[in-house]
Amino acid sequence: MKQIFLYDTTLRDGTQSEDISFSAEDKIKIAKRLDAFGISYIEGGWPGSNPKDMEFFDRARTTKFKHAKIAAFGSTRRAKNPVEKDANIRALLDAQTSVVTIFGKSWLLHVKEALQISPEENIALITDSVAYLKKHGKEVIYDAEHFFDGYKQDKMYALKTLTAAKEGGAEILVLCDTNGGTLPWEITEILREVKKNIATPLGIHTHNDSGTAVASALMAVNEGCVQVQGTINGYGERCGNANLCSIIPDLQLKMGYRCVTDEQLAHLTSISRYVSELANMKHQKNLPFVGESAFAHKGGVHVSAVMKTALTYEHVVPEAVGSVRRVLVSDLSGRSNIIFKAKELGVKLDEKSPAVQKIVDEIKEMEHYGYSFEDAEGSFELMVKRHTGEMKQFFDLERFKVSIQKDSLEKDARSEALIKIRVGDETEITAAEGDGPVNALDKALRKALEKFYPELSQIHLTDYKVRVLDTQSATAAKVRVLIETKNGETSWNTVGVSPDVVEASWKALVDSICYHLLKHHKKNTN
Ligand SMILES: [Zn+2]
Repeated sequence: MKQIFLYDTTLRDGTQSEDISFSAEDKIKIAKRLDAFGISYIEGGWPGSNPKDMEFFDRARTTKFKHAKIAAFGSTRRAKNPVEKDANIRALLDAQTSVVTIFGKSWLLHVKEALQISPEENIALITDSVAYLKKHGKEVIYDAEHFFDGYKQDKMYALKTLTAAKEGGAEILVLCDTNGGTLPWEITEILREVKKNIATPLGIHTHNDSGTAVASALMAVNEGCVQVQGTINGYGERCGNANLCSIIPDLQLKMGYRCVTDEQLAHLTSISRYVSELANMKHQKNLPFVGESAFAHKGGVHVSAVMKTALTYEHVVPEAVGSVRRVLVSDLSGRSNIIFKAKELGVKLDEKSPAVQKIVDEIKEMEHYGYSFEDAEGSFELMVKRHTGEMKQFFDLERFKVSIQKDSLEKDARSEALIKIRVGDETEITAAEGDGPVNALDKALRKALEKFYPELSQIHLTDYKVRVLDTQSATAAKVRVLIETKNGETSWNTVGVSPDVVEASWKALVDSICYHLLKHHKKNTN
């Protein structure tokens, strides 16, 4: 199997993404993960451009990497400077990496308008910048910036810049679609022409402005490129860079190339999540291979087929990329979703049981009312168990009363809750104050129940979300409340819907408590 060398530029191109900034510490952490994942080259940054990147290189020098080489990135020397006096070239050497990636201009438009030098001067500074770095013992990767646009304007000149880098001693020439405007079939055509003239190994660096960065990178490998540059999750300036999280499994699972070991590939989803976590970006659900929805089935027909043979609606095995198959519960659900979901939750549900149809009917009715169970598996499990007779009535509500008081002297309103519940033959009345009515009600309910169920002291609310469902009805709109509850390491989500935010919260709270009691009760009776 032919080896493809992966070159990650998340720490350089990725940080040019509008909403991303990594500290030097973040960068070291990411570099270690990329190394363990099997990336061959990690571009750490542009040492000449900012002190943060220099700090990264200082720390990277004393960090042990098992496999990856760290690359410093920068431009060819400025036209007016002799190479040994050029500050940018100096900074590249000061980074003390074994690899230097240097970019030069391939497009006459840039040579004339941006650099304002002659085409010959540009050729000369490419050769001597590369040669100088080689003289200092570096492995040199040459990034031909705007190569495809340059080639379209003046084919001979673009090829001459590659020859210049080759003559300087560059190990590999990377063709860049810097503006992201080149389409995959053009990449193929141009690469075929380049290969007729250049024997040096080639690499590819694409941007996603046409939505085809991954496709272009794959086509380039198909034409013989041995290095692929890209970023985790496709982070990058404007519309992003080629997404390595798509390219790697495509190359390895479908095209027969080797990028990483199978075991490393199974860490793809976790590295994708890890980088999004450090980037402080929400992990996009619909990312191919690694997104939460990548192997999530919702339509009833799909689910029923997937349960028989996963291949019917899945292009690869989710485990190969470290993902898992999910079945979503929604009003599109048929019987098979419910059965699959129940199985996942450890609830035995006979396919022919009359409970199945009742559960399907109730889900449809509740979703019509505004419930959503996709993020509330705790409430879903309780509902299933109510129908299968596995649910116990832990308490009954007699009544509650919540009051909010505000006067002109106080900064914040005060909330109080009074509650009366019944457990078996006993009743209990308690009151509590809280930060807001829901908090007061939560406290009062726990206080009342803890006498009967001391195990409730182990759990606490960790997240509370309110969504207005029908904004057109303004203050009369229904709201959906989602609550996350934790008991040590385990957490569960519950949901409540009502036109009244306190009542919606109450429903979600009761489910949250009953879920814990059910689990606790089951553990102690088994
Ligand atoms: Zn780029």
